[in-house]
Amino acid sequence: MRKCAIVGINWGDEGKGRMVDLLTEQFDVVIRYQGGGNAGHTVVNEYGKFALHLLPSGIFRKGVLNILGNGVALDLENLWTEIEQVRAQGVSLTPDNLRISDRASLLLPWHRALDGLEEARLKDKAYGSTKQGIAPFYSDKYQKKTLLAGELFDPEALRAHAAQLTEWKNLVLSGVYGAQKVTVEELMDWLTCYGEKLKPFICDTTKLLKQKEREGKRFLFEAQLGSLRDLDYGIVPYTTSSNPIAAYAPVGSGMPWAKIDEVIGVVKAYSTCVGEGPFVCEMFGEEAERLREAGAEYGAKTGRPRRVGPIDLVATRYGVEMQGATGIALTKLDVLSGMDEIPVCERYELDGEETDDFPFPTKLERCKPVLRTMPGWKTDISGIRTWEALPKEARDYVEMIEKAIGCPITYVSVGPERDAYIERK
Ligand code: GDP
Repeated sequence: MRKCAIVGINWGDEGKGRMVDLLTEQFDVVIRYQGGGNAGHTVVNEYGKFALHLLPSGIFRKGVLNILGNGVALDLENLWTEIEQVRAQGVSLTPDNLRISDRASLLLPWHRALDGLEEARLKDKAYGSTKQGIAPFYSDKYQKKTLLAGELFDPEALRAHAAQLTEWKNLVLSGVYGAQKVTVEELMDWLTCYGEKLKPFICDTTKLLKQKEREGKRFLFEAQLGSLRDLDYGIVPYTTSSNPIAAYAPVGSGMPWAKIDEVIGVVKAYSTCVGEGPFVCEMFGEEAERLREAGAEYGAKTGRPRRVGPIDLVATRYGVEMQGATGIALTKLDVLSGMDEIPVCERYELDGEETDDFPFPTKLERCKPVLRTMPGWKTDISGIRTWEALPKEARDYVEMIEKAIGCPITYVSVGPERDAYIERK
């Protein structure tokens, strides 16, 4: 029986969605285990191009059961909008192929409002939040002050619980931020409107997963963002408010007993980072602009230009270790085609000394990249499907990364389309 997690090794946007879409063929169940609609997985396949925010990337495969686990931030409104958009592009989404955990906590409209209010209060010290309400949501979840999806089935008890929470939340909204109070009616209207649409998908997914396990099914755990955005192991406070690392997958999926046998870490052939925070290998000016354009590096959710840089071997090795990656999918190698030389961030310089170790978060601002260059290749590699057919310089580049991060690179992606990849056996 296979239990595999696909995770990001760096700052997110590594191309996880594309890899999950490809690999779902080998799995029966795909589970999103953390995060909310604050990131976007881009998938290109026979149905078209999609930016998935909350839906698992397995929804395009017939026969695959997709699950939103208890660890996700369940925004009913955004999820419903996403379901409708995906359906409009010809993809079938029914309780046969999508289920939502009754233990998932609800991201409520006031979480989004509070996210915006807090970022505004922080002004130039803002965290660069996508303002989807993720941080206020997870804070409330850990305070046990939000609703569970399963509560939608008992309207009377739901109203009583919603009234309690509204009274408490208004103290913060009006008292701390001077914002308008919310009424219980408003909250109940929202819950009823989207709850009725989504109730058919909500069930005890842990029971369902246990059943699937008994049937010998294969499970794929899908993460959002990457190791460096992990709340415990990332670049705090510029992280997300949940745990994208593979070790959290069993807990957030509804299979807390599960042992994961394979962790595929997705690494981009260069670095990108959205939002604020230290980004040691960042490039600026024309060189950066060229890379950004070549890789179409604009946020899937926000459209914000991503910060770019060469591959960062220090951060990548750290990410691989934190994830316990057993294999790597290296994406977007094609984007580097045409460069005379490819810069690589090999080490960091911290307070006058070079280091291979990823530093404590508060020291990152003082780090400088130690760069070297590798010879580039001039040919278009996007049509290549075998390792041997890649230019020698491209193979050397991949092998250099593999050696530096201490993990085999098993897939090399050379384009966004489903079949644009090379598998290394
Ligand atoms: P995710 O959140 O990790 O799934 O990553 P994003 O979807 O934010 O970013 C990855 C982007 O790169 C998407 O637009 C993909 O279609 C695209 N992409 C993925 N793999 C490749 C590749 O190998 N080459 C090229 N050119 N684009 C790719």
